[in-house]
Formats: sequence, structure tokens, C-alpha cells
Amino acid sequence: MIDSHIHGVNPQLQDDRNLGSFLNNPRQCAEVLKTEMLRSGITEVLAMGTAKISDQDPLGIHGLLELSEHLAGIHLVGVADPRRITSSHLERVEVVLKTGKVKALKAYLGYLPYGPDHLNYIGYIHLAAKYHLPFIMHTGRTSSSRAKLAYTHPTMIDDIATDFPMVNFVMAHFGQPWFDTAAEIIRKNTNVWADFSGLFSTRELSLMNKAPDDFLETWAKRIEFAYQMSEKPEKFLYGSNWPHIPMKLYKDTIAQMIPTEHHKGFFGENARALFKLFKTSPLDKTLQD
Ligand SMILES: [Zn+2]
Repeated sequence: MIDSHIHGVNPQLQDDRNLGSFLNNPRQCAEVLKTEMLRSGITEVLAMGTAKISDQDPLGIHGLLELSEHLAGIHLVGVADPRRITSSHLERVEVVLKTGKVKALKAYLGYLPYGPDHLNYIGYIHLAAKYHLPFIMHTGRTSSSRAKLAYTHPTMIDDIATDFPMVNFVMAHFGQPWFDTAAEIIRKNTNVWADFSGLFSTRELSLMNKAPDDFLETWAKRIEFAYQMSEKPEKFLYGSNWPHIPMKLYKDTIAQMIPTEHHKGFFGENARALFKLFKTSPLDKTLQD
């Protein structure tokens, strides 16, 4: 099973203080993450990079590279920083992309005050097209009051998805709470996906597990309705947003919202196809030899 949205390093955005300090120590993080993955049956994850970008680390993935030395099954997502758009920076980004180590780009919309249609993202969108990389964009609710919601509305994704049909875009968090808008954008465009990460907080998960909760049931129904409304189950990816939430509890909760016949795609095959996560089978090895 694939979790298409976790954080393997501190994103270094506003209000990250609640995330575990283990995120700053790759070896320790690998231990914690491994336990969570084993408990929840997750074998592969897409881990988001940090927004703390430097010339030496133009996509914020150095911490993740270290993490992946300690734990198998980590796929790297590089951060597209709209504050850095010089041609020399984009050249450094391209050097990293050429290594093939990065499986997708990420835009922290709202946390950084730039909409996806901002000119400063164009260079990154072109690189995503050139290297056939999906572009994951934060959409909807933010964990920080200093982030700006206007830049996170899913309608903005329709705008760029229409203008750049050669790039696949992922709306992280399914545009919450604008689920119906996000669903309509998936329904209309062939190049838009959504992940189900971060739709419930840890507090909400434990409330739901203690006793039925009217508000949270209505919330879940709204998400399920939008999922159906899109008419494209193949465009949805499982994601947790760990370590914001415990992996197993979140996975078990979300599994109840997705029709059983869609589980294979939702929990793995859709992500495998989108991010091109093909395993080398023993047969492939024989062929190469
Ligand atoms: Zn996240």
C-alpha cells in the first residue's frame, strides 16, 4: 500500500512546532516511521521536502535522502520555491531532477503567498512537464493562521490544469472544505488528481472511534459525496499527512469511506501509475543481466 502524502522532514513553514522533534533526526525519524508503516500495512510513501531551500539543496530533499538511507520505500517530493526563480536556481533544480530521484514537485500554496497561477511557478511547471513529474499542490485549509487561504482554493488548480494540460496536478487534502469544487475540477480535467490526506485531525479521529459523532459523520458524508460526484475513482490517492496524524487510525478511518471495490486503486495502483513507481521484478533483473 502506498501513502502518497507524508512529511519526512520538518516543512519549515509557519507553526510547525507541533510536529515531532524526531523529524530533525533522519535516523530517529526512520525508526518511528518504520513502526507506523508496518502497523498500518504501508510499504511505500511519498515524502514531502522542506521549504528551507538553499543553493546546495534547491528542492529541499537532503533530509529525505538521508531518511531513505535508513528506510526503504521512501519516494522523494521536491519543493518548488516560488521565492527563487533565477535561471541559475532553476538550473540547479534541473540538475537534481535529472538524477531521477524526485518523483514529484510540491507547492506549499497559501503557506507561501503565491497562487499556482503566479508567474513565479511557471519555470517549475515547465520543468514538471519536461521531466514528466506530477505537481502536488497544497489546497484548502491550512494549519497556520498566518497562511493565506485565497491561494489555496481548488478553483486555482482548474486554472493551471487548463493552461498546462501536459502536467498532472494533485490537489493535496482534496481542497478541504471545498470538496465539491475540487470534485468538479477532477470531473472536468483529465490531468487533475486529489489525495485524501489530512481530512481529520488526531482529535477528531479519536472522537470518532469513541462514539458516533454527528458532526464528523456529516463531514465524512460530504467527502464521500464529492468523491462520487467526480465520477473518477481512478483520480484519488490515499495519503495521511503523517506525522500530523497516527497512520493506522487514519488509514482505517479512510478505508471505511471508500467503496471496497476501489481499494486496490485508491491505496496503491492509482499512485503507482501517476508517480510511475514501478518495482523491479526478479524477471526484469534477469532481462537486464
Ligand atoms: Zn502535508
